[in-house]
Amino acid sequence: MTRVNVMQPWLGEEEAAALADVIASGWVAQGPRVAAFEQAFAESQQASYAVATSNCTTALHLALVVAGIGPGDDVVVPSFSFIATANAPTYVGARPVFADVDGTTGNLTAGTVEQALTSRTRAVIAVDQGGVPVDIGALRALCDPRGIVVVEDAACAAGSTYRGRPVGVEAEIAAWSFHPRKILTTGEGGMLTTSRADWADRARKLREHAMSASAAARHQSVLAPPEQYDEIGFNYRMTDLQAAVGLVQLARLPEAVARRRELAAAYAKEIGEIYGLRAVADPSWGTSNFQSFWVEVGHGYPVDREGLMAALAAAEISARRGIMAAHRQPAYADRDTGGVALHVTEWLTDATLILPLFHQMSESEQARVIDVLRDPRSVL
Ligand SMILES: *Cc1c(COP(=O)(O)O)cnc(C)c1O
Repeated sequence: MTRVNVMQPWLGEEEAAALADVIASGWVAQGPRVAAFEQAFAESQQASYAVATSNCTTALHLALVVAGIGPGDDVVVPSFSFIATANAPTYVGARPVFADVDGTTGNLTAGTVEQALTSRTRAVIAVDQGGVPVDIGALRALCDPRGIVVVEDAACAAGSTYRGRPVGVEAEIAAWSFHPRKILTTGEGGMLTTSRADWADRARKLREHAMSASAAARHQSVLAPPEQYDEIGFNYRMTDLQAAVGLVQLARLPEAVARRRELAAAYAKEIGEIYGLRAVADPSWGTSNFQSFWVEVGHGYPVDREGLMAALAAAEISARRGIMAAHRQPAYADRDTGGVALHVTEWLTDATLILPLFHQMSESEQARVIDVLRDPRSVL
């Protein structure tokens, strides 16, 4: 029996040809292709400005820097997320304050954020977990009057929509990931999108050592003027190699999302008939790209989450435990992260698992997964 993987990037000859072109051009670092990728990404996401970065974690870091978040500030984050979400406030010396999530979407809500607000809250990082759009309008209605910046962590959400438009549009600033675990990949890579010109300009500079003129611009002239470093910056650049792959991947995004939604719908139809299982679904305000297709193993199901993981493994099917809870990790165990109860987070992280879903998945592979879901004891 061949193994069914949980995820496989969708890459092909077009990406290979695009890479060969970059290598032949002799310019492989951040340059014209990064600029072209930024423009294409901004257009496709209806963003005013896009700044490419080395990954989403660095994009989140830059987002908090340009938003002016620093020591003494509190930033509300979901514990129910990849740990980079919680680490970003820590990088700028702020305190991540964990808020609980909604059990249906796995996302923050205005209600859960409100419980975590303090007199020092200056920002919220709202995640579109697994591609499910967060209700960003409700969060902004809570945060805007209080002067709290909402940063959207759209790492998983390229191709997801909120009220008929791409996610990220309704946040002042959003961060994206192009890690192979996400739908659109550049190997490693990230993007910052924002509606604010001043934030985009500062992020663009900070990602390149806060240099007064970019390396690409300096290369244009034979005798480059001396550069100046106006503040302490970072090296968070994307390369033209990555951007060339990103341009190909971006053009494929609609097809990639359509295929994932088709596979997700086929899962949802079957899982809806299995007592004790619940599958992730679109919320009323938008559509998911189903970057992660998770199911919750409820009390009426014949086995628990670990039992289902074991059954899938016995059938050579690779699943993953659900989204992590950052507050349970040793890195945060001894830190002050606010005192909010995280019951829903703990339930979801213990009771959910992520099923295989990838572009090239065949009907027979999906049928194998569904067979195990229907009768997990048959393979144990
Ligand atoms: C993957 C992920 C990140 C980190 O993205 P990188 O590009 O790997 O740095 C951040 N937040 C969330 C919610 C993610 O899923």
